[in-house]
Amino acid sequence: MVATRTDTGTRLANAILFPVVGLVLLAIAFSVALIVYTSRSADIAALNSERSLLKGSTNLQLELLAKEQEGAAVWDQSFFYSRPETLSTDWLDSNVGLWLFSNYGHDQAVILDIHGRPIYNSVRGKRHPVEETSGLLEDIEPLIAGVRARFIASFNRLPSGLYYIERPPSGFTRSLHETGMTVFEGVPALVSVTAIGPELKQFLSARRAPAVLISLKKLDPARLQGLAERSGVRGLRSVTDPDGAFASMELRDPRNAPIGYLVWQAQNPGSSILYGVGPVLFFLAATIAGLTGLVLYYTRQNTRRLAESEARAQHAALHDSLTGLANRDYFATSFREELASWQVGKGLLGVIYIDLDHFKDINDTLGHAAGDEVIREAARRLRVLVPEGATLARISGDEFALLLPGCESRERIEQMLKRIQDRFAVPMYIGGNHLHISLSVGAAIAPHDSLSMGELLRKADIALYSAKAGGRGRWAFFDACMEEHVRTRENLAHALREAITNNRLGVVYQPQTTIDGTKVLSVEALLRWTDAEMGVISPSTFVPIAEETGLINDLGLYVLRRACEDAAAWPHLGLAVNVSPTQFRHPRFIEDLRDTLEACGFEPSRLEIEVTESVFADNDIDILKILTQVQDMGVRVALDDFGVGYSSLSYLRRFPFDTLKIDRSFIADLEVAPHAHAILSTIIDLGEALGMKVVAEGIETRQQAMILQRTNCDRLQGFYLSRPVPSARIAEAEARLSGESQVAVSLRA
Ligand code: C2E
Ligand code: CA
Ligand code: CA
Repeated sequence: MVATRTDTGTRLANAILFPVVGLVLLAIAFSVALIVYTSRSADIAALNSERSLLKGSTNLQLELLAKEQEGAAVWDQSFFYSRPETLSTDWLDSNVGLWLFSNYGHDQAVILDIHGRPIYNSVRGKRHPVEETSGLLEDIEPLIAGVRARFIASFNRLPSGLYYIERPPSGFTRSLHETGMTVFEGVPALVSVTAIGPELKQFLSARRAPAVLISLKKLDPARLQGLAERSGVRGLRSVTDPDGAFASMELRDPRNAPIGYLVWQAQNPGSSILYGVGPVLFFLAATIAGLTGLVLYYTRQNTRRLAESEARAQHAALHDSLTGLANRDYFATSFREELASWQVGKGLLGVIYIDLDHFKDINDTLGHAAGDEVIREAARRLRVLVPEGATLARISGDEFALLLPGCESRERIEQMLKRIQDRFAVPMYIGGNHLHISLSVGAAIAPHDSLSMGELLRKADIALYSAKAGGRGRWAFFDACMEEHVRTRENLAHALREAITNNRLGVVYQPQTTIDGTKVLSVEALLRWTDAEMGVISPSTFVPIAEETGLINDLGLYVLRRACEDAAAWPHLGLAVNVSPTQFRHPRFIEDLRDTLEACGFEPSRLEIEVTESVFADNDIDILKILTQVQDMGVRVALDDFGVGYSSLSYLRRFPFDTLKIDRSFIADLEVAPHAHAILSTIIDLGEALGMKVVAEGIETRQQAMILQRTNCDRLQGFYLSRPVPSARIAEAEARLSGESQVAVSLRA
């Protein structure tokens, strides 16, 4: 349950943090992408402009090449010498081929006659066989055809039937030409094809194709350098394969077949900016990412710590700090969940109350540290027996509750109860003492007894109560007849409350006599209750009920007042009144006692209050203080039922009791147990040694009275001497006592 809490905390933290971190990372990634994209776009834009500049420069070079040809091609003489009728290749060689090479450095010059046949070929001014031109002519065939067609189209027909060639337009070039790229000596080259035509208007008898001049300028490194400078690009090279170069331009021949590439170093202005600011950006992004990471780390850390402390707080809220077991709240929650999910087939649900027997005595006699240790040890022993799925809780001081879901049968639960009690058969070793701690256990079963939590708890409690009532160290399952009993208890409490308010309780008095039984020294006031319906009810029955139901203080004051009023008439006798532990510890006890004595005008030194060891539960110091206050008032204090508690002797040393009342079980033992006599003498001597009066109560036989007469005991009390009697009988005796008669005997009579 606790672990789940922590997980939930972490999950919650993740649910908030991961989207935030995701967003930050996304923003960083987006920014980086945007910057890269922008720089890339700038690069591409720059590249496009470089490329068009380069293309423009190349075109310009081609136009320049055509312009260079013009001097030789648009010339009456070359027109004349290139005609089939007047052909002179020698003339053409020196005036066209050589001239173009020496003046302009044309790498190759080829002349085709009007039929398109090569008639002249020179490479860098040297004549070469015309046959070598076949490859070239084929490659640039579209240029040649174009020039020839355009030339023919430029003929104009006169009405006389003659033709003339329109003078080429004046402008940058006057020639009729076509330009393009081709390959020369394995390298791209500029090529221009120009029609050889007349300078002046010539009249011809028929349309005829022209002779053409073909010029090539290879793009050697020097020319590429020039081209680069004019285009403003760097590192211009010609390659056959661009090999993925960013800045490249494809070159195609007139037939549109690829002949290679020009590549250069692009300026990439975007990239250079990016390289410039890149490190700064990277640093920024890293810082943001780092900071986000830190925030993430600390937030997670904090959330985890928060979740942990919440889990701890929740654990503390749901667990008992002494034993670490579940507490009442946790138990109730589990119980509610079990009931909500219960259905036929899920088995029985056992609800078990476990109560340590006589735990109060342990606390009273050995102290709270030992009491706590007993609780812890009990919790340890119970815990190992608890099967999986069951809930064990400490629900109050010495009470535990166990929830057993999914039990096959009632026998299974019974086995469990038996195991629990067996486990406590082994004594606990606490504070140097071996303690036999027994358990009383009560169980209710769902759905048999009920399917409501309140009902089941109530029934388990009734079963526990009945187990305790039947003697300790037992277990009991709830039974309908038990309820009857509880109802009686509730009725009893109700009737008792009425009896107190209506003054219907009686008080009887049992004399305490001298050791020889001849003289009454004092009387013990004992409550009597006779209910109209229920008959006589013993104080052993209704006093504990009064304790449980908060009636005890009223009851105690009632007796005290009645007894003081009665005993006011018996100035020669002492008066003993029982005070229950709860009444004794009541904050107003001293005040009430003083008020009552004053109200009745009762001499405090005649009063003795009887308390049992159990009065020392909780805080010893306070008890000592109250005790001292009682004595300071002049009232004496007796320790009642001495000898039945745990370490009675320690009280005798620590508190200055005036009287010690030996429990009647020691007297009852006198005639049956061989050592009883010795034990009794020892206790009596002890009381004597501590300066206390010793009273032996419960004397029922002459035999017992005689045994006690041989001891140092101070007083006797018991049925043998006198039963508790109504105040009237004491008054009679008192009357006679003033005349020194033998009161005890007369009382017995
Ligand atoms: P206790 O204080 O030990 O009172 C003595 C009890 O022993 C009385 O029982 C008395 O009737 C009984 N008893 C006296 N002599 C003999 C005897 O020879 N043999 C036997 N077997 N019993 C004898 P009772 O009156 O039933 O009272 C029982 C207990 O109820 C008392 O025990 C006392 O603890 C409590 N109690 C009685 N009256 C009061 C009261 O006014 N206030 C308080 N707080 N408790 C009272
Ligand atoms: Ca008593
Ligand atoms: Ca007693």
